[in-house]
Amino acid sequence: MEKTPISIAKCNSYAPLEIQESLNECLNHLGGLKSFINKKDRVLLKPNMLRAAQPDEQVTTHPQLVESLAGMVLEEGAIPVIGDSPGGFFRDIEKFWKSTGYQDISKKLGIELVNFESAGSYISKRSGKKYPLSRAVLDADVIINLPKIKTHSLTLFTCAIKNMYGTVPGFTKADIHRKNPKPSEFAESVVDVYALSRPTLNLVDGVWGMEGPGPSGGDPRKLGMILASTDGVALDTYICHLLKMPPHKVPSTRIAIKQGLGEGKLENMDIRGWNPPVVDDFKWPSNIAYSVEMIPSSLSRAIMKFWWARPAINPDKCKNCNICVESCPVQAMQHGVLVPEFNYSDCINCLCCMEVCPHRAFYQDKSKLYNLTSRFSSSD
Ligand code: SF4
Ligand code: SF4
Repeated sequence: MEKTPISIAKCNSYAPLEIQESLNECLNHLGGLKSFINKKDRVLLKPNMLRAAQPDEQVTTHPQLVESLAGMVLEEGAIPVIGDSPGGFFRDIEKFWKSTGYQDISKKLGIELVNFESAGSYISKRSGKKYPLSRAVLDADVIINLPKIKTHSLTLFTCAIKNMYGTVPGFTKADIHRKNPKPSEFAESVVDVYALSRPTLNLVDGVWGMEGPGPSGGDPRKLGMILASTDGVALDTYICHLLKMPPHKVPSTRIAIKQGLGEGKLENMDIRGWNPPVVDDFKWPSNIAYSVEMIPSSLSRAIMKFWWARPAINPDKCKNCNICVESCPVQAMQHGVLVPEFNYSDCINCLCCMEVCPHRAFYQDKSKLYNLTSRFSSSD
């Protein structure tokens, strides 16, 4: 059986020359960019543009990586476009393009920025569910998925599989949360969208990642690498191993492997280029929230009185901008005098509010029992 190629290049900074050299090296191990695109192809570059963050916050795919790749696509005679749909409720997409640095790339290289909302959408079906996906996906000849390695307080991990969830336009992303309140149901939807939007190539920004309470309010963590593969499931699996997280504990990875969407065994992967050492001290969010699904609902209601983790706001950091209130899919938040207020009985714990906060004002408030059980929740 032929092994699945995963290419890795060392990359210690976002300095343009270093990024370009690492990118060349990484892609050359897979036969070069030309083996994926033809002249005049419309090539959709899909970075992670979760919120209007500055590049050094490490929330979004770094613009230097996007720029260098866009330049290479142009050299091949193809047409790169950059597109994404941020999380939550927002009015001003310009702010996102500007903060993330993608607007500068567009001006410098003369390439189009595609707003997934205004591009229109089409309905795609999988596993008996309907998903609206941006027309930008349909219009592209080639899709290059450009995720960043980050933790995720709800899904544990966000990388190749989860990044394609951004092809669902706008607030519909939060609405899917509402319709699939259990974490494993939501992970199934994330996998469906990955399968439906299936990228041609996945190129991972692992120069700096995010650890702790990601994907928006965690801590930047230097990892020093760029990775690439045509198989996003294999990439996510490999990176989990590298960061000492068993891949089956990440619901989206486990489900994608089970569905045969990609390679889930290290022994079936052909690692080309640099073989990085395992990162022993990467900080993961607690993943025990998933275990509550195993408990019968009558019992879980009683247990949840004592065993909970829920979003809370630090008043010292909150600017009372209400972005989080408008992004809640079940209206479990309302405007407050100093900070927004929660109605926890309606909250489905999707953490959309936490993802969109531009001021890192959220934290997860945890009961004593939750904290106690977290200590026994090992990543092995
Ligand atoms: S928590 Fe964040 S998003 Fe919500 S009102 Fe405060 S600053 Fe705005
Ligand atoms: S308040 Fe609860 S339901 Fe609303 S966005 Fe936050 S976590 Fe999701």
